[in-house]
Amino acid sequence: MTPAGRRGEIGLSELHRIVVDASAAHTVEAQIDRLVSGVHQAMRVDVCSLYQVYAGTSLKMVANRGLSAGVAGRIELPLGEGLVGKIAFERMPLSLAKASRHPAYRYFPESGEEGFEAFLGVPIVQLGQVIGVIVVQNRDERAFSEDEQTFLITVAAQLAPNLLRMPALSDPRSNRADRRMQGIRGAPGKSLGTLHLVVGEQTLQLIEEPLRRSTEEEVALLQAAVEAAEREIQSAKQRLSQRLSADSLELFDFYSLMLAGDQLVAAAEARIRAGSSAFSAVRATVDELVAAFELIEDEYLRARGEDVSHVGNKLLAAILGATGPAPGPVENVVLLGDLVSITDMAAFDPEQLAGILCLQGSPLSHTAVLARSLGIPAVVGIGPVDHLVDGSRVVVDGDRGFAIFDPAPATLDDYRARIADEAAYQAELLGNKSLPAVTLDGFKVRLLANTGLLADVRPGLARGAEGIGLYRSEIPFLSSEAFPTEAEQYDIYRELLSIYHPLPVTMRTLDVGGDKQLPYLPFQEDNPSLGWRGIRFSLDNLPVLVTQLRAMLRASVGLDNLRVMCPMVSSLAEVEEVRAVLKSLVAELRDQGLDVGMPPLGIMVEVPGVLPLLPHLKDRVDFLSVGTNDLTQYLLAVDRGNPHVATRYDHLHPAVLHTLADICRLNRKLGFDLSVCGEMAADPVAVVLLVGLEIQNLSMNAYSLPRIKALIRGLTVKRCRRLANAALKLGDAGAIREKISKALRRDGFSALLDR
Ligand code: PEP
Ligand code: MG
Repeated sequence: MTPAGRRGEIGLSELHRIVVDASAAHTVEAQIDRLVSGVHQAMRVDVCSLYQVYAGTSLKMVANRGLSAGVAGRIELPLGEGLVGKIAFERMPLSLAKASRHPAYRYFPESGEEGFEAFLGVPIVQLGQVIGVIVVQNRDERAFSEDEQTFLITVAAQLAPNLLRMPALSDPRSNRADRRMQGIRGAPGKSLGTLHLVVGEQTLQLIEEPLRRSTEEEVALLQAAVEAAEREIQSAKQRLSQRLSADSLELFDFYSLMLAGDQLVAAAEARIRAGSSAFSAVRATVDELVAAFELIEDEYLRARGEDVSHVGNKLLAAILGATGPAPGPVENVVLLGDLVSITDMAAFDPEQLAGILCLQGSPLSHTAVLARSLGIPAVVGIGPVDHLVDGSRVVVDGDRGFAIFDPAPATLDDYRARIADEAAYQAELLGNKSLPAVTLDGFKVRLLANTGLLADVRPGLARGAEGIGLYRSEIPFLSSEAFPTEAEQYDIYRELLSIYHPLPVTMRTLDVGGDKQLPYLPFQEDNPSLGWRGIRFSLDNLPVLVTQLRAMLRASVGLDNLRVMCPMVSSLAEVEEVRAVLKSLVAELRDQGLDVGMPPLGIMVEVPGVLPLLPHLKDRVDFLSVGTNDLTQYLLAVDRGNPHVATRYDHLHPAVLHTLADICRLNRKLGFDLSVCGEMAADPVAVVLLVGLEIQNLSMNAYSLPRIKALIRGLTVKRCRRLANAALKLGDAGAIREKISKALRRDGFSALLDR
């Protein structure tokens, strides 16, 4: 349906046209303006206005077509008042043939909206929050058709991410010159740093291209990038030649051929000679080639389009590398990418990293988990951002979940003061490092550290960890280019066990799958969290499990502080199988003269279906560790990695608390050594409940240890029991958090809660 069609009829193709047109604009403001103008034209209405929720208290008109020029920006309506306010408040669309008859109708003279009768308004909602309202109006009385209502609802859904990026949405108290982008809290803490863009599909589209130099310089830049990419491909091929089949290695030859051929490099050079920079020439050539591959019918050949983008990204990264800031000691690096991966993080020393910013992602992603364990502030799910310049200044506020790009001097001063204040608070907490985590009435809790990289081992010890409660062994697997050999694994495990000796170290077997994809063994699944994960993957790839367990056992010789734990267990058969493999390996190594003993074996309790199996595990395992991250995800059917449902994910949900209470009740008879190692163990409110349930082992990221210890030392188990019982009677996670937070504030723990 075109704008010339009959009023009241409107279709998806129209919407598509509007969205495509809007996305060609270069700024968020211009995109929004084009969307509003497109709707005004397509719906053939007299007025189309877009309002944005401002500072949580009012609605500001940010774009308009049909009213007098300049009216947008001047109109601000109180939230909850008038028709627009009512829509925002009730989060429901409103369609009226004669608006002036509605009891909520209020005429705001400054709006210039006098005399428009037909009214249709739709709330714009992002992650469960109303962030704006879109309204269309006609002068004459008329009813809007269902088609029109559906159309506007669809437009509202398209508008949400753009509206969220409008600077006017920021808090009025913040410095207006700042470019503040709201996301979701990924890892706590605040930092100041230098932006380093991780080359990914989305970030490449965002990166401001380097200034164009002379044609010959740009051509030289392209050639240097080709050589750098070729060197990288050859060295990767060589590194993997022992481990990959000849078939897989052929892929590298394909990459090299592409770099040597005309289609990519010669075509890019032609573009440079026609006036493009090397960066935009490569980007345009790759886009063109990928589009051509998408038209090929043969599925195999079509998939080669991915290889073109892969090689193209390598070239672009090399060009950026050559044009970016001069290499040198890199400090205070803030990594920004679509999804910064654990591999991207592992390319730096943790001390070099000041922050992580992900345009996508969620707080329970493993990137966020790793950032927490390294004490690096992180914000995830930021959404699209324009005009990012590698090397520019950025503030990461992981406590409040936003980033500020190009902060103003006053903001920088403010953050410097806050960072210093936080450092002083942490130093004060470290005073309790050698004291036990014991409540005022004598209930002792063992505080353990979660780790995954050798780099995050020492922070745990430095903060008084009494052992490692969870070593995520997959992290070295994710950050290398092929399965690490037994010798490579041995070195890592030996170092870890030695550093902590004689304290216990619980090593979890490989937990890949879900959001942890091995770069060298990618597999596609429709439902990865319910798929080939954890122990399922290891048992189906027995050589991988055997190599890992052998390395662990050999590494424990003479130290005897190893505990082995299996992730994602959901059946007795899995436990039996692992136990049998472990036993036979112990026997084999002993035959070879090594003094290895059978280590304690445990399982993660994270699949809800494992609960009824616990009594049957009595003589099969030695300990249990509750993985509340996955347990919450599976109990609530809420994907821990999906930002759209992130606000629905809460480990204080009654389902999680009741399941934990059931586990504790069962375990009173069974007597397993029981711990909690999910993120819940680092949440002060949750810790009150876990202590109330008398859980004696809590394993968490190293940076939370001093805080949680300070909390435990200031409570009595008696009070925690009472609070846990009260919480178990409530039916809502929000109410539970409020109740416990209030109690903690009364007890003087406000500083601890507010950080
Ligand atoms: C968990 O699921 O709670 C857990 C600790 O493991 P991971 O976060 O690595 O899945
Ligand atoms: Mg888990």
